[in-house]
Amino acid sequence: MTTIRLQNTKTRKREEFVPIDPANVRMYLCGPTVYDRAHLGNSRNVLLFDVLFRLLRHIYGSDHVTYVRNFTDVDDKINARAAETGRAIGDVTAETIGWYHADMDALGALRPTHEPRATDYIAQMITMIQDLIAKDHAYAAEGHALFSVESYSAYGALSGRSIDDMIAGARVEVAPYKRNPMDFVLWKPSGDGQPGWDSPWGYGRPGWHIECSAMAYDLLGETFDIHGGGNDLQFPHHENEIAQSACAHPTGEFARYWIHNEMLQVEGKKMSKSLGNFFTVRDLLDQGIPGEVIRLVMLGTHYGKTMDWTDARRVEAEGTLRKWYGILHGHGFGPDLIRALQADGKWEADSEFLGVLANDLNTFGALARLHVLAKGKTPAALAGFAHGLEMLGLVNDWAAIPMFDGGEAGSDVAPEVAARVDALLAERATARAAKDWARADQVRDILNAAGVQVTDVGGQATWTPGQSFDAAKLGDL
Ligand code: AMP
Ligand code: ZN
Repeated sequence: MTTIRLQNTKTRKREEFVPIDPANVRMYLCGPTVYDRAHLGNSRNVLLFDVLFRLLRHIYGSDHVTYVRNFTDVDDKINARAAETGRAIGDVTAETIGWYHADMDALGALRPTHEPRATDYIAQMITMIQDLIAKDHAYAAEGHALFSVESYSAYGALSGRSIDDMIAGARVEVAPYKRNPMDFVLWKPSGDGQPGWDSPWGYGRPGWHIECSAMAYDLLGETFDIHGGGNDLQFPHHENEIAQSACAHPTGEFARYWIHNEMLQVEGKKMSKSLGNFFTVRDLLDQGIPGEVIRLVMLGTHYGKTMDWTDARRVEAEGTLRKWYGILHGHGFGPDLIRALQADGKWEADSEFLGVLANDLNTFGALARLHVLAKGKTPAALAGFAHGLEMLGLVNDWAAIPMFDGGEAGSDVAPEVAARVDALLAERATARAAKDWARADQVRDILNAAGVQVTDVGGQATWTPGQSFDAAKLGDL
């Protein structure tokens, strides 16, 4: 059996993964707060956990892995969004969950086994908080319930901080009802217009951290295998989850392996709204960039390293996939061929590919191996290549190999349409040279709306029509 190794944040070591129960391998990923579209950075741990889910299913069997990812649907950012737009909170969260599914589906991410919503687990959270208070790990004060960090001696172990370091380094909210400034909120009072539920501490709503502890306990038990999220969640969120769960269920271990991914940057800079390099997954899809291309770029950097989204990488990924899908197509890959390979016992993972991927989810190395396997000359020799593409989620339906519409991109664009795009690009260049950013942005918006993919290299713009290319949106020809 393939051995998986994982870099465990808890021990700071790369360890062999041994499941508690191979018949039910259990993992939990902290999911989104649903008030807005997912930005590209948010997709990084979704894709990481999707590859892990696929790998575990391959090794232990598809019915033997339970994957839980929650929706945080009670949060002050959601309340603010509902108030700004004059909409009901339930409408905002339902719409955002729909967007999230559509966007992550487009990236080829499998749906988790369970996607619990926090608001469906209020009773379990209240029970857990009552239990923590009964065990003297929490206390009630002024309509709040607070976790007492001094009651848990291992507080800070995951992220390697002491309580004093945390107080010194963090902008903690000092409040008169807190015994220690690091004590965190389990329950807080709700006023008019805020969502709330009756509780032993009054009408209110949960703090953020308790939901993951309550849902993981309910769906995965007091000890489960793998937990993860972005590096930025280690403290305080994961530290607090551990404290709550360890104190409420002292006979359990909560999560045995913790996996944290590094952050995403854009063209070498942190993605942020103020730098204007902030974009959502949907923005990219709307520009006609196929989900598979986004996925390949994201898998091209090991999760433990900061990754950079660049246009050059996007173009390179698109070229690679066109080549790879062309190979599959050229050798007749489809449901019939897969069935035939299965019948011949040839539908198997390449052992080197699997070994590399299982070594701390080295997607970069696995892709390098696919470049080698792509050189096979017969369907049987290409079986490991095709199997690997499926395992990385780059082919999800053999009846519809993506990005393959029978020809090279751009070959069917009429000359007058091409001339119009060239004219728009020339106009954008002129506007930029004259620092007329408004006009340059206007032209960019027209090109985006029409699904034109522009690549700027060395001051020179080239373009290809994306999947959703629509010449009618280019304006007057
Ligand atoms: P947030 O929307 O900030 O609550 O984050 C939701 C999830 O996305 C968390 O797991 C974060 O760690 C992750 N995340 C947020 N920003 C980035 C980024 N720039 N790169 C990678 N992951 C991110
Ligand atoms: Zn969480």
